[in-house]
Amino acid sequence: MDSNRQGYQHGHGHSHGSYPQQNYTPGAKWVKSLTRDRLGQFTGGHYSDLNLSSVLFTHRVDNAEHVKLKVWSAPGLTKPTFEEAMQQKFKSAKKGDPFGPSWTNHWWKVSVTIPEYWQQYERVQFEFDPGCEAMIFTVDGTPLQGITGGYGGDRRVEYIIPPEAREAGYHEFVIESSCNGMFGVPMNGDTIQPPDMNRYFTLDSADLVVPNQEAWGLLWDFQTLRELVDTLPGNTSLQNKAMTVANQIMNVFDKNDPSSIGRCRKLAEEVFGKDWEEKGADIYEEGSSKTNVWGVGHCHIDTAWLWPYHVTQQKVARSWSTQIDLMDRYPEHRFACSSAQQYKWLEKLYPELFERVKEKVLDGRFHPIGGAWVENDSNMPSGEALVRQFLFGQRFFETRFGKRCETAWLPDSFGLTGAYPQLIRGAGMKYFFTQKLSWNNINVFPHSTFNWVGIDGTQVLCHMTPVDTYTAQATVGDVNKGLTNHKNLESSDTSLLVFGNGDGGGGPLAKMLENLRRIKGTTNTHRELPTVNMGHSVDEFFAEIEQSTKEGKTLPNWLGELYLEFHRGTYTSHGSIKKGNRHSEILLRDVELVWTLASLYKHSKSSVYPKEKIDESWEKVLLNQFHDVLPGSAIGMVYDDAEVLYGEVKRDGEALLEKAFSVLFPQSVPVTTIMRTKALTGSSKIVAFNTTFFPRWDIVTIPCLVKAGPNLKSLVMQATEDGREGFAIMHSPGGGAVGELKHPSNALHSQIKPVSVYTNGSDHFVLRNACVQLTISNGRISSLVDVKLNRELIPEGQTGGLVIFQDRPNYWDAWDVEIHHLETPTPLQFSNISVVAQGPLRAAVRAEVQYGQSRISVTISLDATTATIKPNSRSLFNFSALVDWRQRHEFLKFELPLNINSPFATYETQFGFVQRPTHKNTTWDIAKFEVCGHKFADFSEFGYGVAILSESKYGFSCQGNMLRISLLRSATAPDAEQDQGEHFFSWAVMPHEGSFLESDVPMAGYLYNSPLRLRCLPSGTSDLVSPLQSPFSVEGASNVFLETVKRGEYDNFEHEANFDDKATPATIVLRLYEAFGGHAQAKLSISSHLSVVKAFTTNLMEDHDEELYLLRDAETGPDSRCGLSLSFRGFEVKTVKLVLAHNSTLLSL
Ligand SMILES: [Zn+2]
Repeated sequence: MDSNRQGYQHGHGHSHGSYPQQNYTPGAKWVKSLTRDRLGQFTGGHYSDLNLSSVLFTHRVDNAEHVKLKVWSAPGLTKPTFEEAMQQKFKSAKKGDPFGPSWTNHWWKVSVTIPEYWQQYERVQFEFDPGCEAMIFTVDGTPLQGITGGYGGDRRVEYIIPPEAREAGYHEFVIESSCNGMFGVPMNGDTIQPPDMNRYFTLDSADLVVPNQEAWGLLWDFQTLRELVDTLPGNTSLQNKAMTVANQIMNVFDKNDPSSIGRCRKLAEEVFGKDWEEKGADIYEEGSSKTNVWGVGHCHIDTAWLWPYHVTQQKVARSWSTQIDLMDRYPEHRFACSSAQQYKWLEKLYPELFERVKEKVLDGRFHPIGGAWVENDSNMPSGEALVRQFLFGQRFFETRFGKRCETAWLPDSFGLTGAYPQLIRGAGMKYFFTQKLSWNNINVFPHSTFNWVGIDGTQVLCHMTPVDTYTAQATVGDVNKGLTNHKNLESSDTSLLVFGNGDGGGGPLAKMLENLRRIKGTTNTHRELPTVNMGHSVDEFFAEIEQSTKEGKTLPNWLGELYLEFHRGTYTSHGSIKKGNRHSEILLRDVELVWTLASLYKHSKSSVYPKEKIDESWEKVLLNQFHDVLPGSAIGMVYDDAEVLYGEVKRDGEALLEKAFSVLFPQSVPVTTIMRTKALTGSSKIVAFNTTFFPRWDIVTIPCLVKAGPNLKSLVMQATEDGREGFAIMHSPGGGAVGELKHPSNALHSQIKPVSVYTNGSDHFVLRNACVQLTISNGRISSLVDVKLNRELIPEGQTGGLVIFQDRPNYWDAWDVEIHHLETPTPLQFSNISVVAQGPLRAAVRAEVQYGQSRISVTISLDATTATIKPNSRSLFNFSALVDWRQRHEFLKFELPLNINSPFATYETQFGFVQRPTHKNTTWDIAKFEVCGHKFADFSEFGYGVAILSESKYGFSCQGNMLRISLLRSATAPDAEQDQGEHFFSWAVMPHEGSFLESDVPMAGYLYNSPLRLRCLPSGTSDLVSPLQSPFSVEGASNVFLETVKRGEYDNFEHEANFDDKATPATIVLRLYEAFGGHAQAKLSISSHLSVVKAFTTNLMEDHDEELYLLRDAETGPDSRCGLSLSFRGFEVKTVKLVLAHNSTLLSL
């Protein structure tokens, strides 16, 4: 018995008698809630002259003896370079001086004299707070770091004086301050309000200070302890421990006893581990090797948003230089950074800083990510534009850093197309990071880590961080959320902590890196928090998931688009930007096709493929696709810039086209209303270059009819009322061939469906041909009839037409159209109808709509042709609107109730389509009340359907049987004048026999967006394209579309200019895709004049994949062709590279 008791006591290390027999104390039980509340009094607040805040700085001087300031303010909104600024006349300045207004730049020359006795201190800092953003340079112009003034959470106002300067007692440097905050200069401080263009700032601080480093250490200790207390459940031992220690620290701290700080810090080691701080970055080497949360520094810099592009250029330099500075002090710090465009700006405007970034990239600490030109919107860019985002992005990273990216990165884009997985893989990446769907305002997205499977079946490994932000502050709460909010813990228990201030730039702060070290120290000895690591890349994070989930086999899948249940107004906001995007994309496609052909006729230097010019234009289009520009959610200044860029693209693109046409169609002139009338006379002829690969017929307009020669006049089957213009019908073959205006063949003649029009002149008219008929009665579309089938498409008692909705979203004005808008329709009436074309080739009426202060003039026309040449194709009704838009917070749409029943409607997306519900069964269905589509939206049932085609609009909806296209919004934030003023746009209503899959809607959408390019050829001349007999055509599979024809990315155009015999071979790259979602076996037929010697399939980067067998026609006559057999799966995108014979030229033709 005795020996047992002895053993028991020894086993627990107790000695006899340590537990007192008597107890007259009150005991130590706390009132936990009061203790917790007390912790809020250790910094700042009511006791700031007694608590820790009172000792954070040992010394502070701001007098002229120690700090000398001189300033020069750049005139207006100019942004001079460092060198330019230094040549100006500076005047003396002082703390407290005001400067402004908004967006102006101010340069400061600063010299500081450091008191000799400050040499004893570990650190001396200059604290500069202009209330706005700023950048510190050396006196020879090297950018050192950014400054974020003001008192927000992103404040960073200290610049550490270099030790050698501290010892010398004197230091000079230069500061550029810019009159905007991290989030621009919003009116009344509400983030999304338009900018206050007249804000002035005050230089709040220009002080030389000695920070009490130990006190700052304690501040961060205490901060981490408080986060532990506030984050962890109250019944965990770590939470109680952290609170106990924090409480003791408050008891021990004494502002009059500097040594108390050290004792407080020692107390904190009870939570962070003994001597944790001395370990520095090595703290990450200790503890469990299993990591839950991977920390990666990041800085989301919106390429334009509440500030214009040129301000972003400064933000990039500020934010990135700050990170390089941090890396030198925190070796575990890794920084992932996207957007080739931002790197390119840095390279051009801050070359020394770019070199330092490059060093860190090569050193493996600074990680280019995303592989794209910008973090683009992913709803609206065309498929080809998304390809170019990657091609331009990856090519930039490869040429500058010798390496392409492995992870696609779009944390903030407003929904993600189901075309993406295939494109990401095609660009050489297999991982994808995003998070915006955490903003869904209806349903919670069910996955964190999953296989994202695109419309074609391609998958990428996707992580949507459970931390629900790309601007985490690296708090205990953030780390904890990485696990507690993870939705697939059964498959994977790791998450990415993407931390650092963002949107307006900034990136990680020292305090975040400090916090993470303390958290790591804590998890090395406690199990109640997820473990966190540092020092790795995002690629490594994904590679670990790939490996631990058996290459994704144990992960859930998500199929199709990642629809964002938010920001649905962005498909419509800023109509002119949408139009600029669509029209530029198509113009550049035309330029590339026409120039590819022209560049093969090497009779002069002027026919060298203008790669650089084309790239320049593409870069502008890609830049404007940034995820706050194209969506229409930026301030007005951004749109001024974007319009200029689109203007340049149009000007340069049209000029390039004209130059190529002058090669391919020598001596020709464009057929436009301003053409030289002389050209039409005699036996000159009109030809058309069809930039689509579909054969087509069009009603073309012949200008200056009076002066036309008899030959041309005889082809005109209809003249305008004033006799100035004539209409003729024209057939153009597909395959990039040339059509010629001539008397219709019998076959074409039989296809003409003469049109007629009737109107009462006020509110009633009928447009009709042998296949369709539209009636407007009492100002509304009351009837739409398929004449061939005698089928009425408008349900009895319902009408279609323009409609207005109240549009007052809950907060994000330009971003959101909220579900309630659908409850407030006001149908608008067409009035004052006049006939503007009588038929037989084109019948048209012009109608007016008046609403509020707005005036809308709509020309509704019907042509004698069908939408495509497909048998049984129907004609379409074209609506061209000229709108003077003066509404605010109202939404204009066009709607058509249809006698069709289907649970889904079909919308074009990049390289395919997406189907979305028309009903409201579940909240997931309800959420899709406004959706994105490209060139068409279609509502079909078995046997029949109606599509709406669009040339510049992207917003659609189909609710029940009501199909709508969204035309104009009118938000007032962040651009007070969004969409005010004149607009010109078109859409078309296209009935079709058969369901969508049996229809010609995708082809019609293509043709509708690609008008013929008409040329007038003088008599006796001929074009150079016709002898090619269609350069390229797709045979045997009507569902395979040839989208793009361009010269190879890596061709050597300089050699071409020199006519060098030994030049690298010319290549042609073609991009094709399957458009209907099914397998196809197609033959790509190529004119033998192109002398193809080899062909390869490639990825989107144009790296060879496999060589293709060239099929050659047996005969070797001039019309013989060669071909490639290509098999497709549904929605597959295929890139083919044709290698032409050495020194091949088409000159011999
Ligand atoms: Zn963003």
